[in-house]
Amino acid sequence: RMTRLRVGHGFDVHRLVAGRPLKLGGIEVPHSRGLEGHSDGDCALHAACDALLGAIGQGDMGRHFPSRDPRWHGVASREFLEETVRLVREAGFTLGNLDITLIAQEPVLAPYLEPMRTTIAEVLEVEPELVSVKAKRARSSASNRCVHRREKAPGPAKGKAVAMSWNPMLTIWGKF
Ligand code: MG
Repeated sequence: RMTRLRVGHGFDVHRLVAGRPLKLGGIEVPHSRGLEGHSDGDCALHAACDALLGAIGQGDMGRHFPSRDPRWHGVASREFLEETVRLVREAGFTLGNLDITLIAQEPVLAPYLEPMRTTIAEVLEVEPELVSVKAKRARSSASNRCVHRREKAPGPAKGKAVAMSWNPMLTIWGKF
């Protein structure tokens, strides 16, 4: 008999660039730069989508929301999550819980974790108790090496990469 308990994992990284609002965890966080992307760049919601899609064995965001499809250009990432939740329900599952860790050097995300949690729970149509959003600062030598390596990368991306000092990364485990 197949178990009805599923666990998925999602991960995403977007670059921080000037001239865009910072959309993260379904809300706007005041900051001088925002996340690059063909949508609003909200990597927290993207990782959530990938975790949910992985848990139901339906690939990832690239399969369901291809960037070449103009339908998804500039959309709020909560639309991706809404559609993903629809797929989860269609597959016969309900959310057990969702645990999110944001990794970033800046800005300080602590004041925004609770609004993110509430917003994500609202999109998922579950009690906020089932959603957890945590944040860690990324000041390790490993992340510095990562930044330095990108600065040395050849090609036209070089100038842009120097401006990147902030790497949001997420891991999400969804349990059904
Ligand atoms: Mg993404």
